[in-house]
Amino acid sequence: MKVVGVFLKGCKYAAQNPKFLLNVEAGLGLRPWLEAQGHLYHLTHEKDGPHSELEAHLHDTDVLITTPFHPAYVTADRIKKAKNLKLLLTAGVGSDHIDLHAAAAAGITVAEITGCNVVSVAEDELMRVLILLRNFVPGWKQITQGNWDVAEVIHRSYDLEGKTIGTIGGGRIGQLLLQRLKPFKCNLLYYDRYSIGEQREKELGVTREEDLDTLLSKCDLVVLNVPLTDKTKGLINKDRLSKMKKGAYIVNNARGALMDRDAIVEACNSGQLGGYSGDVWDPQPAPKDHPWRYMANHAMTQHISGASLDAQWRIAAGTKETLEKFFKGQVFPEEYYIVKKDGKIAPQYT
Ligand code: NAD
Repeated sequence: MKVVGVFLKGCKYAAQNPKFLLNVEAGLGLRPWLEAQGHLYHLTHEKDGPHSELEAHLHDTDVLITTPFHPAYVTADRIKKAKNLKLLLTAGVGSDHIDLHAAAAAGITVAEITGCNVVSVAEDELMRVLILLRNFVPGWKQITQGNWDVAEVIHRSYDLEGKTIGTIGGGRIGQLLLQRLKPFKCNLLYYDRYSIGEQREKELGVTREEDLDTLLSKCDLVVLNVPLTDKTKGLINKDRLSKMKKGAYIVNNARGALMDRDAIVEACNSGQLGGYSGDVWDPQPAPKDHPWRYMANHAMTQHISGASLDAQWRIAAGTKETLEKFFKGQVFPEEYYIVKKDGKIAPQYT
């Protein structure tokens, strides 16, 4: 079979560290294994536009491996061109870069490596919570620029203890974050369309808010942990931001398009938001003129939270296991399925 992987360029770093797997040079370390079984493995980082390498390979690809960190947008048009395509495998968590309805209509299976990097993301979220509250970024910038102005940093620097922190989404990452926040002695809230159950709420020391606007109005800082779906696109808009306390913060490692992009810029610049941090953008890579690069009080990075070397190892192992099952005609773990061959879309994406 022809397997195509779309990953970012590893540049000089791929040669420096063999544990760096999520790049075109390493290709998740799958080449020897795939080729030994007679499969063709083609790797590219060129994912965008009609003249990209990905586009040229679509017509005879059987399996397409993509990753949210360097998302190849698999549109309905591309699915139409990919006549041989049987499996769209997301090396990571989050398959919103794929037109799931078009895949379902074409009878293509979509799967991801559910849970592979949830610890990595929760740890990163905790870091961003602290970076925002302690006003870390201006201090770091001053030091690198030869300056020393303590007042600029501490006139808006807070402890985490005693603050009200809410997660929108109480699934895998949401719960791991709550677990990590608990020792900091904050007030913890969550909003999710499903309850995590009384017992789990007690373990985590968290209270459910059934109304999103109420959660927003109570929190000093809100973290997004829901998938990007038709229902969650633009969830945090101007109206919702106005429900938040003045100067509250947002951390978003879930997906950029959960936000109304310009409403976030306006809220950061006006002070309605005290700051915004996250690693997800719409689109990715973010263009040079993306306004989140330049808004006030942000602590943004590239899409990195779920791609630590530990996560990369789990992503690679999970991708290999899933491909092995696919070649043998075996079923995947149920939670890996995003779209089944019969066209059924997983509940978290509906
Ligand atoms: P999960 O499925 O375990 O949890 C998602 C939660 O969101 C579920 O509890 C679900 O009930 C809730 N939810 C879904 N739609 C909702 C809606 N409309 N209203 C209210 N609640 C809703 O997923 P997870 O593993 O915790 O991952 C969450 C998201 O994080 C992923 O979908 C992905 O977009 C993102 N993610 C980002 C990275 C990264 O590197 N930045 C890595 C992994 C995952």
